[in-house]
Amino acid sequence: MLPQGLYCEPGGFFIDPLRMVDRAVITHAHSDHARPGHRHVLATRETLALMRARMGAERAGAVQQALGWGEVLGVNGVEVRLLPAGHVLGSAQVAMEWRGSRAVVSGDYKRQADPTCRGFEPAACDVFVTEATFALPVFRHPPAGQEIARLLASVALFPERTHVVGCYALGKCQRLIALLRAAGWDRPIFLHGALAAMCEVYSALGQRLGDLPAATVAAKQALVGAIVLAPPGAAADRWARRLADPVVAVASGWMRVRQRAKSRGVELPLVISDHADWDELNATIDEVGAPEVWVTHGQEEALIHAAGLRGVKGRALRLVGYGEEDEAAA
Ligand SMILES: [Zn+2]
Ligand SMILES: [Zn+2]
Repeated sequence: MLPQGLYCEPGGFFIDPLRMVDRAVITHAHSDHARPGHRHVLATRETLALMRARMGAERAGAVQQALGWGEVLGVNGVEVRLLPAGHVLGSAQVAMEWRGSRAVVSGDYKRQADPTCRGFEPAACDVFVTEATFALPVFRHPPAGQEIARLLASVALFPERTHVVGCYALGKCQRLIALLRAAGWDRPIFLHGALAAMCEVYSALGQRLGDLPAATVAAKQALVGAIVLAPPGAAADRWARRLADPVVAVASGWMRVRQRAKSRGVELPLVISDHADWDELNATIDEVGAPEVWVTHGQEEALIHAAGLRGVKGRALRLVGYGEEDEAAA
């Protein structure tokens, strides 16, 4: 552990470093994990493309090296592999093998199926380094399809109103679109301008998202009965007021907390998260079978306690700097 973040000493590289470093392995393109200005960056092809789109090609790393799924790369004697994490497009766990022992860093992850990214692949290891964003028993995410059905039922119930769904620009937005398409919604899905760029990268990487016109230039009449996606701030803000009698929804794991939804003026909270819930976190710890679990960020005490009851040794890393984006991205 160094102030710059999680460090693999024999390999000489950091994972999702919080400050600029010489050599970084990046799990995914959310801004709290993928910071600009590292010299050498190793990540999946998709993560590198998303990083370039978010921060510009130069700031995404002087040297950018893509590693394919399951490919093994030797870094100073450490065998490094990237395994799908199921969080957002390109999101990976980092598996490291050195002198016969294996550590896996989960990055952010979830276990629910997501049509926009590869599903989490559990890997047996000696040390499992996990996130813990929703590591409290109160956080149990319903199947996302069930929440989409609630949204579509509301649209059917209020055909004269515009449903504006607050969602994070990278990952959640594209997942909502894919889930709506899978549920049979083939009409246009209108986008706030801040969401367009990431959708374009997803499309360029082969995701089929359908017709996504800009909400800002659409006639008010065209938005009657429509679904509009916007950043969570804009959805509950003045921006939404120009829409036809908007129903404000927000898609986030935090919507499980009714009080939070209420205080933000969210009429239709949708519990759709890109993070593992309490059950998924515990099931994953059991599945990878690691005798030792390190927790990077989130509600570490509860998870370490629960793991301890099952004989798994836990350690809180208390990394400061992750999860800043997760409030909205979660
Ligand atoms: Zn993330
Ligand atoms: Zn995160």
